[in-house]
Amino acid sequence: MDPDATTRGTGDVNRTIPEALAARPIDPKRNLPTPWANEHVRDDGTVDVNFAVVSNERAFECTELRLCGLCGEGLDYWITFLGGPKAAELRTYGDPPMHEACAIASLDLCPHLAVKRHKRRQVHRQDDDGLPPGWIDTKPDRWILGYTRDFKLKMVGGYAIFFAAPFKQVRVFAYDDNEQLHEVA
Ligand SMILES: [Zn+2]
Repeated sequence: MDPDATTRGTGDVNRTIPEALAARPIDPKRNLPTPWANEHVRDDGTVDVNFAVVSNERAFECTELRLCGLCGEGLDYWITFLGGPKAAELRTYGDPPMHEACAIASLDLCPHLAVKRHKRRQVHRQDDDGLPPGWIDTKPDRWILGYTRDFKLKMVGGYAIFFAAPFKQVRVFAYDDNEQLHEVA
């Protein structure tokens, strides 16, 4: 384990924050590392962070250079996608591929994922019906982490959509009676 990595949280999920993710700028409002793919660089060079919407530019960059959507560093041999059961079934994601460790850390860090009752605002995608069915993340009762080697990026209705190659392995995280997330399979 990396001695510089930060740990937090409780429960049975390994919650070590990878160094590259911990080194990301911290969003002052949420006190969370800002995901690399959610940085929208304006024409004047300033950066606008939108936690709910992935930057199309970063989506292309991530695909071309095989970078993790959370920390922005090069992906490993196995790459992971995180989403609900429907997304896993279709292997279709609005969020980019990630390092396994970054995905696991996000299960704890992101309040949208870590606690069931936390609802993410979805105003940005509600009126768009040009998207593949199932990928829009109405809050699922469980999260599936899929391991694969490859993916494709396509633009659908103006949004970058990631299509994962078949999964070699999946891990399942579900909410307990206290609405906390635990690995179940
Ligand atoms: Zn990463």
